[in-house]
Amino acid sequence: MLTSLNVNLKKVVDDSYKINIGQNFLKNFEVRDSIFYVIDKNVYELHNKIMPKENFYLFEASEHNKNMDETVKILSFIKKNKGIRSSKLIAIGGGITGDITAFAASIYMRGIKCEQIPTTLLSMVDSSVGGKCGINFGGIKNFVGSFWQPDSVNIDINFLQTLPDDEFYSGLSEVIKMALTFNKDFTYYIMDNAEKIKERQSDVLIELIFNSCKIKSNVVMQDEKEKGLRRLLNFGHTFGHAIETDSNHQIKHGIAVAKGMYYETLFAANNGLIDKNVVNIVKNILEKFDYDLQYSITNKDLFFKSLSEDKKMLNSGLVLSLTDGLGSGKIVEKIKIEDIVSFFKCAHRNKP
Ligand code: NAD
Repeated sequence: MLTSLNVNLKKVVDDSYKINIGQNFLKNFEVRDSIFYVIDKNVYELHNKIMPKENFYLFEASEHNKNMDETVKILSFIKKNKGIRSSKLIAIGGGITGDITAFAASIYMRGIKCEQIPTTLLSMVDSSVGGKCGINFGGIKNFVGSFWQPDSVNIDINFLQTLPDDEFYSGLSEVIKMALTFNKDFTYYIMDNAEKIKERQSDVLIELIFNSCKIKSNVVMQDEKEKGLRRLLNFGHTFGHAIETDSNHQIKHGIAVAKGMYYETLFAANNGLIDKNVVNIVKNILEKFDYDLQYSITNKDLFFKSLSEDKKMLNSGLVLSLTDGLGSGKIVEKIKIEDIVSFFKCAHRNKP
């Protein structure tokens, strides 16, 4: 005999939150028993004057440290300081600090509040919004994690004044990706303001961050768990991830994504999946910011292993997220690895 009950969980928690963007508004960090900070060590040193003087855990941000040991240290730090279920954990740092902090918050006493104070361009426009968090595990990036929405995101562009150029351009490629796949006007805005962006002018930075957060949050509101629309945010990331792996992580994530956007577009155009004109649109916008689009594979085995292990790989083949170059994206499935192999074989044809 079998008796069944249906458990219909309606959302009882309000997951909405505010993203505040501005300049010079983060000055006095609250110190209370129930508030704990995880702070990127470099940011703490560079912005020491405004940093909280108590209740903080200094984290050395690196992919190597985005691991379970460090998560346990953060959990122990909160517990030692008598963190309870109503406590809040605040991340001050780039995407690595934000990801591990939110992950720790999501599992401490089955979940406590988490606030994001992103300090890199990438974390301001991308990782702090959307609720994906996690750590590297068993040699695989972001293999263990959860979806844990922040209770607020506070973005002060003053942090960008100390951000090294390579980190700035790494974040900028994610902005370009969002514009190309979701918003034509934003794409033109970026093209028209390239020089001001390179000079990191405040008003233009705020506009970039505002538009990117708007796009990302709109996507997440419609598809929190990456079942449909959110997959479009992967434009450039499939080839980009393989490039990152092939370079032994010498090429930064966002720089690899820029190359990935170019080669995915070229591959798609060569295979009749999109119009050939899109290649020039993507190339032009990336070259305005001096991204080096040259790439030749160093280790074929590593490159194609990374592609075939891609999280977006289905039984029927690889899934690519593409742009039409004018602010809308499309998903193409059933891509055969062999086609990508022969595309990269014709290296002379694929040079930018
Ligand atoms: P990061 O956190 O490593 O920061 C890059 C470097 O910049 C670090 O050395 C850091 O100490 C330094 N730094 C940070 N802020 C600074 C500042 N204001 N001035 C000077 N130096 C500063 O890198 P990132 O690019 O911000 O984040 C990358 C991580 O984000 C990856 O682990 C990736 O998996 C993750 N990510 C997550 C999501 C998501 O949805 N959760 C999305 C994209 C990327």
